[in-house]
Amino acid sequence: MKSFRQELQQGLDERKKNALLRKRRTLFSPQGTQIILDGEPVISFCSNDYLGMADHPDVIQAFHKGLEKFGAGSGASHLVSGHLVPHQVLEEELAAFTGRSKALVFSSGYMANVGVLTTLLGKADAVFEDRLNHASLLDGGLFSGASFKRYAHVDIKALENKLSNAPESDRKLIVSDGVFSMDGDIAPLPELVQVAKEKDSLLMIDDAHGFGVLGKKGGGSVAHWQEAGVDITEDNLQILVGTFGKAFGVSGAFVAGSEELIETLIQFCRPYIYTTAIPPAMAEAIRCGLGLIQKDQWRRDYLSQMISRFRRHCEDLGLSLVPSQTPIQAVLIGNVETTLEASEQLMEQGLFVSAIRPPTVPIGTARLRVTFSAMHTEEQFIKLLDAFERCAHNWQKDL
Ligand SMILES: *Cc1c(COP(=O)(O)O)cnc(C)c1O
Repeated sequence: MKSFRQELQQGLDERKKNALLRKRRTLFSPQGTQIILDGEPVISFCSNDYLGMADHPDVIQAFHKGLEKFGAGSGASHLVSGHLVPHQVLEEELAAFTGRSKALVFSSGYMANVGVLTTLLGKADAVFEDRLNHASLLDGGLFSGASFKRYAHVDIKALENKLSNAPESDRKLIVSDGVFSMDGDIAPLPELVQVAKEKDSLLMIDDAHGFGVLGKKGGGSVAHWQEAGVDITEDNLQILVGTFGKAFGVSGAFVAGSEELIETLIQFCRPYIYTTAIPPAMAEAIRCGLGLIQKDQWRRDYLSQMISRFRRHCEDLGLSLVPSQTPIQAVLIGNVETTLEASEQLMEQGLFVSAIRPPTVPIGTARLRVTFSAMHTEEQFIKLLDAFERCAHNWQKDL
């Protein structure tokens, strides 16, 4: 009989055989564009710190001051005694920022998504998810026990069909990323809002990669579409999720919506209730990030410029890019081994660009995922373009 350890080893060997074994690399420096990775200096194009907040002096100072004023930890969950003034004020600022009645702070985006979905949905309900939704949304939908349907990526016709053909259910909920985390494309909110209305469904958007990056004051996908004249409110997009680990540069998440939604989560959402509140000092750092995000339009403008220059360069090189106006730029390669080689070739030139493989993305769509930060210098950016020019011919054999 196999021992427990042998059984586990078999699973690991299987993964390795398929070139899917993942490795963690250790940063010896703060997160940023110039980092020390496993002891080596490299230029990083693979953090989600799009605006450069993770290492921003003001954010760090706010954290420090928060520590002095409020101590290291919150000491309890929100409902016991861990809800401090910084949490409360942050929630009020987030409600104003998103234009919603209320907001609720969670310890992570994963917990927010699983929490919302399992609180609002049960066996008698149905959830409809974009095929490329973040894993936390898919998991939440599955954990809820609701009838679970995935529709083809941003395919509104396919969504309509699934909604029309679904068995009778109490509550219907359409769930989508606002900006898709592996492709970088923006979800068609006007159509999603319309379909939800027509089919008497609720709508939930997880805008982890939209907040800070899209919209005039970094208001995210909703602001992006509102600025284009689309009417989006908490009555036609009832559940809005954001995270603090991406453009905010810190960690944690929030849900924004009506008073009734937020009160329901406070009363019934187990991943909200049964966990320690984030450190109050962290809430202070997030508040500082929130201010900078709204104020520093130049960060978004600079990102836009880099994105269009990068896309033009890749098109000139004949590379296959996923359509995206956001700092997430996916260069499709296809084959897993070639994608890993591509990432290694870039690493040899001091550039850290991650290879994204199944199961994170669909089979046959392994890709390099380049993410830009407002802190990338012109020199760092040109190094990336030059390296692509030197190597791109090696990457195209599989598509
Ligand atoms: C990163 C991410 C999450 C998870 O957020 P964490 O705070 O890192 O747990 C959820 N949804 C999307 C779309 C994300 O990109």
